[in-house]
Amino acid sequence: MIQRAVFVIIALAAVAVICKKTVSPGRSKIRQIDHTLQSISFDCDRIAVYVGDEVQVKPVAIPKNADVSYTWEIADDGVLGVQNGRIVALKSGNTLLGAVSGDISAQIKVTAKYKPLPPESTLPPLYYEKLMIANYKNTLGADFVPKNLVKIPENYTAEGYDVLYATEETFSAYKKMYIDMYYAIKGRMHIISAYRSYAKQSELYNKAVQNYMNQGKTSTEARSLALGTTQTPGNSEHQLGCTIDVSNSNNTDHDYYDTPEGKWLADNCYKYGFIIRYPSDKEDITRIKYEPWHIRYVGVNHATYMYVNHLCLEEYIDLQKEAETAANDYAIDNPATVE
Ligand SMILES: [Zn+2]
Repeated sequence: MIQRAVFVIIALAAVAVICKKTVSPGRSKIRQIDHTLQSISFDCDRIAVYVGDEVQVKPVAIPKNADVSYTWEIADDGVLGVQNGRIVALKSGNTLLGAVSGDISAQIKVTAKYKPLPPESTLPPLYYEKLMIANYKNTLGADFVPKNLVKIPENYTAEGYDVLYATEETFSAYKKMYIDMYYAIKGRMHIISAYRSYAKQSELYNKAVQNYMNQGKTSTEARSLALGTTQTPGNSEHQLGCTIDVSNSNNTDHDYYDTPEGKWLADNCYKYGFIIRYPSDKEDITRIKYEPWHIRYVGVNHATYMYVNHLCLEEYIDLQKEAETAANDYAIDNPATVE
C-alpha cells in the first residue's frame, strides 16, 4: 500500500514536471508543433480481400497528426478499384496498392480471392463465372455482336453453306473435338450454322412465319408455330457466337442422335467445353425441342459439371446463383486470409 502511494506521488510529480516543461507561459516561446509528414507505412505487408467486398485501408502517418492527404495507386490489372482508401476487389489475383503523399509513399500487397463455398457444398464451384444465356426470357440486344469472331474455314462447313463465323475459343475447342471424333469413331461432323446476327435471326424467323401463313395459318398461329423451330431475334444463342449446329450429312434432324456421330457428340462434347444445349428431357425448362445437333461452348469446367449432374444451362445458372448466396453466407464467419 505504501509502495502504491509512493508511486502515485511520483507519477503526479512527473506530470507536474512535464506540465511545467511544456507549458511555461512567459518564460519561453510556445513551441511550434511540426505537422510535416515524415513517413507513411502500413501495419502489415499484405492483406487478403474477397472479390466484391469493400475494405477501408488506413496507412499510418508519422507524425500521427501530420497534415496528409493521399492519392492512391494501383497496378492497372483490373484486380482492384480504390477510392479514398476504400478498396474493392474486382477479380482474383495479386496486386500492389500504393498510398502516396507528395514524395512519400507506402505500398501494400493485396490478394483478392473469390469467396469459397462451404467445405461440404456440392454447388458449382465456379459460381462467379457468369455465363451468357439467350432464351425465351433473356433477350440479346440488336446491337450485341461477340467480340472475337473468326471465320470458319470451308473445310469444316457442310457443302453449299454460307461463310460461317464463331468466337475464337469456340472454334478452337471445336477443332480439337472434330479431330478426336475422327480418331475415336472415324466419324465426321460438318458445321451447318454458327454465329447469326440479330438481323439474320429476324430474317429466319420472318421466313418461318411467312411459310406457315402461306399454308393458310393466321398471323398469330404462324408465329406460335414458327417458335417451335426458330427463335425470335435476340432470343437465339446463335447470336452469342459460341453455338454451333453440326451434322454428319447436310441435314439436321432428330435422327442425328441415333447416328454414331450424334452419340459420340452427346457423350464426349463436355470434354471440349460444349453442352447439348437443348436436351430431350429438359424441354419444359428450355422451351426448345430436343436438338441433338445444337452445341453450345461454355468451357470445360462448366460443361463437365453440367454433364455429370445432368443439368441444362438454365438449371446450372440457377445453381450458380444458389452457390453465390452460400459463399456470401460462409464468408461472414470466414474472412479472407493471407496464406
Ligand atoms: Zn442451332
